[in-house]
Amino acid sequence: MEAALAGEGEAGTVEGNWGQGRLSAVTGKRNPAIPDRNRAVWRGKRGSPEKDAGAGFWGSECTKLESVLKLHNWKARFGVSDKAFTDLLQSIRSILPKDNLLPSNIYEAKKTLIDLGLEYIKFHACPNDFVLYRGPVLESSSDCPKCHLSRWKVGKDGQVRVNVPAKVMWYFPIIPRFKRMFKSSFTAELMSWHANNRSKDGKMHHPSDYPSWRIVDYRWPMFGSEARNIHLGLAADGINPHNNGLNNRYSYWPVMLVTYNLPPRLCMKRKFMMITTLISGPQAPGNDIDVYLQPLIDDLKKLWEEGEPNVYDAHTKSFFTLKAILMWTINDFSGYGNLSGCVNKAFNGEQEFGRVPEPLSGEEVLGQQQRLRFNVMHVEKNVCDNIIGTLLHMKFKSKDSLALRLDLVDMGIRPDLAP
Ligand SMILES: [Zn+2]
Repeated sequence: MEAALAGEGEAGTVEGNWGQGRLSAVTGKRNPAIPDRNRAVWRGKRGSPEKDAGAGFWGSECTKLESVLKLHNWKARFGVSDKAFTDLLQSIRSILPKDNLLPSNIYEAKKTLIDLGLEYIKFHACPNDFVLYRGPVLESSSDCPKCHLSRWKVGKDGQVRVNVPAKVMWYFPIIPRFKRMFKSSFTAELMSWHANNRSKDGKMHHPSDYPSWRIVDYRWPMFGSEARNIHLGLAADGINPHNNGLNNRYSYWPVMLVTYNLPPRLCMKRKFMMITTLISGPQAPGNDIDVYLQPLIDDLKKLWEEGEPNVYDAHTKSFFTLKAILMWTINDFSGYGNLSGCVNKAFNGEQEFGRVPEPLSGEEVLGQQQRLRFNVMHVEKNVCDNIIGTLLHMKFKSKDSLALRLDLVDMGIRPDLAP
């Protein structure tokens, strides 16, 4: 998974997932925005190996958490395999003093990171995109209720490999990450930026200057009165990370959330954009993308309807109920059709499932071009004939007639030419 994520611009590196960038992925330097209090939790009191529990090893400047993050970021950036990463961890451990706390394998490293709200959930999916195996009924079922295909992979020998899912999607839960944004006093303060920095010159500088933002504040004043409530945009599009010039249709659909509460210089920055869902498969999900968006939509509905209670705001040092609204989605036209469940790809009002036409050969293109040129020549000749005929008042060729002048009256143009 890391390799795939790194391939699409590292959106899924630890920094990208985290949403608040306490450790730069590139430089590995500490972010001054991280309160010292948070560091102390991991570092413990200095002085002895026992008390120095959070440090990577006694006397180290780097905490265990920082070390793991730094190494995990490196792993994601270069698409290093889990096996190679475990090997690297073991090599580093053998170099460091004996009492070091560095994890000895990828599993332990991930366990450390999951404590930070960096977890992801894997859902098994029907290979035909009909259902996700989630919820009390489907969670335990072993075949799809709609197409009756097995939930498990079927090998080439026709045997079902139980516990090997046929299709998987990843969901990165959003609520823990929003809560985490408010745990940094620096980011928590910025989450109210939009309320204090509205445009004064009547021009649009930030989405909070849009009429739609004002309408939300007006229609739901309870929501609008809390500046920390989050205004979101959702962006989704398919990418083909394995594009090798062949007709490879294997696609990834990352679904990103953008937080518009932040100042314009930050809200489109990678570290504040969240990847929420990653759909992959040999075919694009098309209109079935709604199946894969279910976990995200459930979380968004919860954030809109009841909100997440007891969120700690490190800037005001208080607790509040966090709510969020999805303002709009950002797509190309075909993605827009898929997300809205509407059809925008065919002229007969139905979605097209047919095969893409075969590409034309060079001779066929030349033939089409010559026919087109012939047609254009005819149109040009007719228009020229009519203009010249009209200007010169040529009998039978002029287009200036009583009927045509009455047409102009009908269309309401050039009243000076009315008969
Ligand atoms: Zn199915």
